[in-house]
Amino acid sequence: MSLQSIIDDIAAEVAPLVGQGKVADYIPALACVDPCQFGMAIYTKDGQIYQTGDAQTSFSIQSISKVLGLTLAIDHHGRQLWTRVGLEPSGDPFNSLVQLEFERGVPRNPLINAGAILVADTLLEAYDEPLEQLLSFIEQQTGSEPTIDSDVAESEKATGFRNEAMASLMKSFGNLQHPVDQVLDVYFKQCSIVSTCVQLAQTFGFLACDGCQPVSGHQVVTSRRARRINALMLTCGTYDRAGEFAFEVGLPAKSGVGGGIVAIVPNQMAICAWSPALGESGNSVAATEALRLFTQRTGLSIF
Ligand code: GLN
Repeated sequence: MSLQSIIDDIAAEVAPLVGQGKVADYIPALACVDPCQFGMAIYTKDGQIYQTGDAQTSFSIQSISKVLGLTLAIDHHGRQLWTRVGLEPSGDPFNSLVQLEFERGVPRNPLINAGAILVADTLLEAYDEPLEQLLSFIEQQTGSEPTIDSDVAESEKATGFRNEAMASLMKSFGNLQHPVDQVLDVYFKQCSIVSTCVQLAQTFGFLACDGCQPVSGHQVVTSRRARRINALMLTCGTYDRAGEFAFEVGLPAKSGVGGGIVAIVPNQMAICAWSPALGESGNSVAATEALRLFTQRTGLSIF
């Protein structure tokens, strides 16, 4: 069966789940997104694109951006980064404050909010214009310039009390170098980048190709770094559901509260599934099920 018919079948099969769950209404600008949308795209190692449903509809990438921030941060800081942020799954919700106080302002991993805020701080050290750097990184992978949804960024800023608390806590422990407002500005804007399933699958192609861009072969990160980023996505990319996600889907993945999930089949393809309604841990219900069906149908898994 071709990849195209597999994803078309999956789109039909998850249809009853689309809209089940809740859009991320704690960010007011995301509360008005139509929950009844579903898209899925695949970008293969040899540059083929397969897509179904609303795969060309733009959405807020939210925490999927954490992997891109991390990629740029490791590129600049190397091992030094791991003195300021950990490498362990949190087992807690993405915006939990409890562990951060307990562990003296060192976030468990770079893919929860505290960790990504810390990474944003390190990007301010590394680059004059960290956001420009992130946007041009995406442009280099997709060939088109992404945009930031300023309404979403403003909305996050107006209601991001927990993120402010995390940043302040890290500052109080001396783990944040820049002013809280400046760091959060980068973090909120990176979360508000807009993309589509097709573009996100293309953006993450390098993680499916040992660190090289599919087709051009351009080395984006070393193959060791690509493997390590994939390891973090597997263990930490879907928060306190990472264990269940590895069990059910079996691929490194990163979700965002915009409803997108990017998954990597090492040496084969990057996949993005999207549907805005979320389950309790902030992962899209229909996108998770689509990825589960995909690995079940194809037998693709890292295990
Ligand atoms: N911008 C969101 C927040 O900070 C990102 C969370 C997510 O996608 N899990 O709450």
